[in-house]
Amino acid sequence: MKTIQEVFRDWEAVIGLEVHTELTTLKTKMFCDCPIDFGAPPNTHTCPVCLGLPGALPVPNRAAIESIVLAGLATNCDIEKRSMFYRKTYMYPDMPKNFQTTQGPIAFCMRGGLDLTVSGQGSDERIDVEHAEDGSYTTHIGITRIHMEEDAGKMIHVGGTDGRIAGASYSLVDYNRAGTPLIELVTEPDLRTPEEARRFMQKLRQIFLAIGISDCSMEEGSMRCDGNISLRRRGSTGFGTKTELKNMNSFKALHDGLAYEICRQAEVLEQGGVIYQETRHFEPATKRTIVMRTKETAEDYRLFPEPDLAPYDLSDEFIERVRAKLPELPDAKSARYQDEFGLAAADAETLAGDPAWARFFEDAAAGSGHAVRIANLMINELAGQLKGGDIATCKVAPASLAELADLVDGDAISGKQAKEVLAEMLETGDGPAAIVERRGMKQVSDAGELEAIVEQLIADNPDKVEAYRNGKKGLTGFFVGQAMKATKGQGNPKVISQIVTRYLEG
Ligand code: ADP
Ligand code: ZN
Ligand code: MG
Repeated sequence: MKTIQEVFRDWEAVIGLEVHTELTTLKTKMFCDCPIDFGAPPNTHTCPVCLGLPGALPVPNRAAIESIVLAGLATNCDIEKRSMFYRKTYMYPDMPKNFQTTQGPIAFCMRGGLDLTVSGQGSDERIDVEHAEDGSYTTHIGITRIHMEEDAGKMIHVGGTDGRIAGASYSLVDYNRAGTPLIELVTEPDLRTPEEARRFMQKLRQIFLAIGISDCSMEEGSMRCDGNISLRRRGSTGFGTKTELKNMNSFKALHDGLAYEICRQAEVLEQGGVIYQETRHFEPATKRTIVMRTKETAEDYRLFPEPDLAPYDLSDEFIERVRAKLPELPDAKSARYQDEFGLAAADAETLAGDPAWARFFEDAAAGSGHAVRIANLMINELAGQLKGGDIATCKVAPASLAELADLVDGDAISGKQAKEVLAEMLETGDGPAAIVERRGMKQVSDAGELEAIVEQLIADNPDKVEAYRNGKKGLTGFFVGQAMKATKGQGNPKVISQIVTRYLEG
């Protein structure tokens, strides 16, 4: 099979995403007042409505409608003041009603879009647009709609392999999740590379986290994504037949699945074959996609208006009340961090993209004067040391991290020492000053003391001094390293390096 770079010389990929997000931050289900609580024992949060018992009547959850309108406003959609619910026929034991309540041609949110800036890794996959000097480019991704629907229950197949239904001796079903509010966002076929798809999904996740409508966990399935993909010859404008990749549950799977599918389609087409409109499943282990089923059509679903729910009208007042709740979104936050605190774009984006990290950063940076160092410590040290732990509940307080940044910027301790101090802060919850004191950690910046050490090293290593003077400039590193060792890592590397260079050149 060709590589994606080879394929992209002749072919252009057309990609559209369908993203499902469970509104996990709500208290109750979409059409009944059963609590949303995924940890509860099976079938303890059910009622006649979410079990689809005869005569039960649904009532839409107002908070869920607020969430979808918030999502629409955050992604520049028009909010439809009148929309309706529909029944989508669907026979499977995880949906006791035998239909899913969803929306029809008009959804709560229509015609939105996001600007997507792609920089760094993968930006070279896109060859038909102008790139800035740093290799980045910006492209607009249209959002067709965001509609409201409900989740199904969960099936557990017992006795087979890997929890699959094939080979199982029986199946269990848990309806706790049945009826959980779900929003589905559908993009226009505007994405052109697997990297754009990944970045779009990341950006969407950051926005949904910022507006607080979901925990957006890809691993746990509260945010999941289907990718639609087709190829066309470069220069042509029509659309080819698409395949749909189901349920890619990580950013990497989304990227790799699309990349594989692009190469597979190119091979089929170049050998004179045809692409069938079908649903495929990506297997991360083998990095292949396999056929799940051929495409259902709208007729298969027999979509029709839900007779038990009146058309839903949204007042201007309701929409404006939701708009007032829009927080500062990640793009605006990132721009502000660059302006206000002088952060580099990449660091600003990283911190602004996660509400808990953004809050921590702002609390630490407020009035500190060492915001750049704080950002640096958070991204390069704290993130790694937390090992995926929650920054909001870790033992390091924002004010303590600001203190640590002061110590580093004031040359009181070295960067290497800061790493150790941070580890101890995380473990004990003590402030950095106490730890530095306790460990007798002072960075030695005293030129006289350091000079004596360097002088001794120069005297002890005449051969290396000679070699340096004959052009082996890399030997500076040897002397700096030895001097650091002699100070037990407490020497100020900047000062040592200056002294070493002076002696070697002298
Ligand atoms: P379907 O009727 O098969 O569900 P839709 O028109 O509803 O298709 O589109 C579903 C998703 O597929 C959308 O994200 C859309 O942008 C995308 N899409 C539509 N046509 C194509 C195509 N030819 N190639 C790639 N993606 C496409
Ligand atoms: Zn219920
Ligand atoms: Mg469709």
